[in-house]
Amino acid sequence: MTESVFDRLRTLVLARMGVSHEIVRRMDVVPLEQTVDGWYCLLGDGQVAHVKSDGADDELVSSPERATALIGNLATRFPIATWFVPRSVNAHPCPVCKGTGITPGLPSNLAAQVVCRCGGLGWVPS
Ligand SMILES: [Zn+2]
Repeated sequence: MTESVFDRLRTLVLARMGVSHEIVRRMDVVPLEQTVDGWYCLLGDGQVAHVKSDGADDELVSSPERATALIGNLATRFPIATWFVPRSVNAHPCPVCKGTGITPGLPSNLAAQVVCRCGGLGWVPS
C-alpha cells in the first residue's frame, strides 16, 4: 500500500470516527473495528493488528481469513474501490447506487455487508 493511499484512507476513516477515541493519535494505523479492549487496525505494510485502547501492544492477526474479513468490511463502508480501478472512458453512473457505490434501501445491518452490483465503484461501463 502506498503512503498516499494509506494516509488518504486513514483521513477518510478518522473523519467519520471523530476525535473521541484514543486510537486517532496513532498516525501509523487505520482503525478497522473496535473491540472491548482496543481496535483491529490496518498497518502501513498491509497487515492487520489488534491494538490496545491506549495504543500499545500491537498483536498481529495471524489468520488471513480474519484479516481479509476486517479489511473487506472497511471496503463496504467506504467507496475505496474507485481508488484502485481506473474509471472506464465510456462509463456512466451506476443506475442502482447513483454513483455512491453503496446499495440503497438496505437496513443498516445489511448495508455494511452487501456491495452494490457495480462492486462499489459507483460506475458501470457502457
Ligand atoms: Zn452501484
